[in-house]
Amino acid sequence: MAPIKNILIVGGGTAGWLTAGFLARTLGIAGEGGVVITLVESSDIGIIGVGEGTFPSIRGTLSTLGIDEAVFIRECSATFKQGIQFVDWVHAPGPAGSSHYFHPFSQPSQRQGGPDLLPYWLLGMAGKDAAFAEAATMQKRVADAHHGPKRLTDGDYLGPMNYAYHFDAGKFAGLLSRHAKSLGVQHRIGTVERVTLDSQGAIDAVFTAEWGALRADLYIDCTGFRAELIGKALGSTFHSLRDSLFVDRALAMQVPYSQADAPIASYTISTAHEAGWTWDIGLHQRRGVGYVYSSRHTDDSRAEAVLRAHIGAAADDLTPRILKLDVGYREAHWIKNCVAVGLSGGFIEPLEASGIGLIETAAYLVGFLFPKDGHMAPVAKHFNSFMRRRYERVADFVKMHYCLTQRKDHAFWHDNTAPGSISDTLRDQLSMWRCRPPHRLDFVTDLEMYPPSSWQYVLYGMEFKTDLSHSQAAYPRMDEARDEFAMIQKMAQRAVADLPTHRALVDAMCAR
Ligand SMILES: Cc1cc2nc3c(=O)[nH]c(=O)nc-3n(C[C@H](O)[C@H](O)[C@H](O)COP(=O)(O)OP(=O)(O)OC[C@H]3O[C@@H](n4cnc5c(N)ncnc54)[C@H](O)[C@@H]3O)c2cc1C
Repeated sequence: MAPIKNILIVGGGTAGWLTAGFLARTLGIAGEGGVVITLVESSDIGIIGVGEGTFPSIRGTLSTLGIDEAVFIRECSATFKQGIQFVDWVHAPGPAGSSHYFHPFSQPSQRQGGPDLLPYWLLGMAGKDAAFAEAATMQKRVADAHHGPKRLTDGDYLGPMNYAYHFDAGKFAGLLSRHAKSLGVQHRIGTVERVTLDSQGAIDAVFTAEWGALRADLYIDCTGFRAELIGKALGSTFHSLRDSLFVDRALAMQVPYSQADAPIASYTISTAHEAGWTWDIGLHQRRGVGYVYSSRHTDDSRAEAVLRAHIGAAADDLTPRILKLDVGYREAHWIKNCVAVGLSGGFIEPLEASGIGLIETAAYLVGFLFPKDGHMAPVAKHFNSFMRRRYERVADFVKMHYCLTQRKDHAFWHDNTAPGSISDTLRDQLSMWRCRPPHRLDFVTDLEMYPPSSWQYVLYGMEFKTDLSHSQAAYPRMDEARDEFAMIQKMAQRAVADLPTHRALVDAMCAR
């Protein structure tokens, strides 16, 4: 086997440029003992241009890439994201109005030697009405008060609250592109029209009108839903999740703020509707709002009416973009000398912003497992098994939001609770959690994108019932836990006083 000296990345969206920059940074580029990395992208085929919410792992990725946090915030119209607020997911809105719960990014507070708070919350030690996310972290209070997760004096990518970002997807791809090129990635504009295979079934060349044949030792398919290499050329089977996760369309709009100094929410607002849910993301200069829905439960014109009613007058002069989604993943992400990163490898709908997180994982794995000596088969096998399991776990986590609903007002919600739409693994986990709460031992950490606390926040936000009445003897630290919950509330007040408002933080970082 010949060592890998050349990598060709096809596609210049978030997946392509993030992978290019990450590999340039971690493998090094040619001339410095590394590899030649070339990215070819079409000027005729646009990027998907949505994907504005992220997961906290993005901070580690941006830091590894060597991007300054203030530059990132300024150039991508970025804001901070401290979690997701889920509105009307458990119950349909009624005469009493809406209900909501919060999935914060900060872990439940855990003082060294202190009790694990979840079982004590289940036993009522935080009070009858306190939601778990509110009782166990300061973050919900901070986010509700429209304050940011960090102070200006905190270092890059650091802060007292765990956080991710919202950003403009087009501007993000632009920043990643400039940065990757500054790290030595070569850039070609060209549309791949044909892919040829060699006698072993590996990619021999990709052909563009502009550059003729382009050849490499390793090809990375970042062509989005088109999956030109991994799907069309190599025929990797697509494992559809449409019978479990029903949404397959999205309408997206860019909505101006009513006033230039309006507060910016530091969380995504996800509101359940009759056949899906809307996202509402506050960027620095505008909001990104969209409706993700199931075409088997509604039609496009009704979906647009729902989106317009949700946004109100601010949508009057706006025209939505419509997007078709293929929810599922490739059985094999890496075949011979080609690996898929991004939408070409799979997509588990946007509910918990897993798209970019899965790109980060794939780029990291390609770099870490990189078969320098050219022996790709064992690496491909490991990569495929790892990525498949990650996608399965993300799919279970997302499905959990739907299948625990108590809504019966529309077929979409009813169908989402059908046992046949729930995987065996998720069903078994939910069954175990009826008599004990989720624990880190339920999870193989490296295969999970979401930590156990995320599962806990969503599970109990969805009003799941865990009955501890027969195991109270296992929890003797009631008084300590009660004091701990009271302390968290006091600390939350202090945190709100100590942290700047979200808009002030973003404005100040942009002015740096
Ligand atoms: C409605 C919706 C909402 C989403 N929300 C989120 C979110 O909140 N958070 C999140 O993390 N993710 C989200 N995602 C997913 C996220 O948008 C993607 O994971 C991310 O943008 C990466 O896309 P990509 O780079 O794989 O593909 P694209 O952005 O589609 O890029 C494809 C690239 O391939 C190029 N290309 C295609 N064909 C060829 C060819 N033949 N020759 C040369 N070049 C070619 C194109 O020019 C383009 O540069 C969302 C997705 C959708 C659909």
